[in-house]
Amino acid sequence: MSEPLFERLALIGIGLIGSSLALNARTNGLARHIAIATRRKETLDKAEELGLGDSYHLEASEAVADADFVILCVPVGSCGAITREIAPHLKAGAIVSDVGSVKGAVIAQMAPHLPSSVHFVPAHPLAGTEQSGPQAGFLELFTNRWSILTPPEGTDPAAVTRVEAFWQGCGSNVETMTAEHHDLVLAIVSHVPHLIAYNIVGTAADLETVTQSEVVKFSASGFRDFTRIAASDPTMWRDVFLTNRDAVLEMLARFSEDLATLQRAIRWGDGDTLFDLFTRTRAIRRNVIEAGQDTAKPNFGREPASGERAGTKG
Ligand code: NAP
Repeated sequence: MSEPLFERLALIGIGLIGSSLALNARTNGLARHIAIATRRKETLDKAEELGLGDSYHLEASEAVADADFVILCVPVGSCGAITREIAPHLKAGAIVSDVGSVKGAVIAQMAPHLPSSVHFVPAHPLAGTEQSGPQAGFLELFTNRWSILTPPEGTDPAAVTRVEAFWQGCGSNVETMTAEHHDLVLAIVSHVPHLIAYNIVGTAADLETVTQSEVVKFSASGFRDFTRIAASDPTMWRDVFLTNRDAVLEMLARFSEDLATLQRAIRWGDGDTLFDLFTRTRAIRRNVIEAGQDTAKPNFGREPASGERAGTKG
């Protein structure tokens, strides 16, 4: 087997993303030693029980000591405080990264604390599920998904290449862009869709004329697909909206304008406008499938529940 990319990988935070990285680092031989740190003993014990690492720490500063690669896998809003805590313990020449869903705010929080002797290569894997915690991780999470690197200007290209190799070793495709562009792209492909899901599930829960039990009972009509996204981790998503405020508000403004157009088309019986949009959106779905980002199987390849036929019902 070839030499691992890193001698000691420190994962700070061991939820869905951290545990999936640990499984990849171990199985794909990306690091010789995997040091795991998390704040709660309960989570650390679970990680140990699952055998995710080689050493387990309640102090992040212990995990990063002597590490040549450190990845923060915690909610975006916690990255600054953790970086301040670990900064004095980082080894010269180490690479520090993260997996946060927002990049501009993470860089603003982390960069001021990092010593000039380390390389900072922020990253974001575009892969996830609505599950959290160390038991939620799985080896294939990053396979064929994109990971975006947003190295600040002046970052050592050799460090960027090593981080790229790490993500490729996890089965991911890698692209590099500015943090600002990342945040704009993610606002429309991820953040606004999550907000819409949270909102529609919230609206349904608050309805007075349709009972909650009816919403649940008849959910296969389309509603349940929103409930999957709206079951995502509340801490993570609160932090995403608080830290990517400008890009989300910009995309929401566009969304609201387009929604008003649809509202008008429905009010005035303008079927052409509706039909044209629905035709264009079908083509986008085909593009997503052709790009290998989803399955072409009906109903996302779900096994039909008892008594149910696959497909979206009206
Ligand atoms: P998760 O499963 O909820 O795990 C979060 C981890 O962070 C746990 O180890 C938790 O520790 C720790 N943590 C939580 N709050 C903390 C705090 N205030 N201070 C220190 N540690 C804290 O989360 P995840 O889904 O892996 O997400 C982690 C990061 O990945 C987030 O930045 C998120 O934006 C990004 N991300 C998520 C997804 C996704 O779909 N889930 C996709 C791409 C990127 P304890 O359990 O010990 O409290």
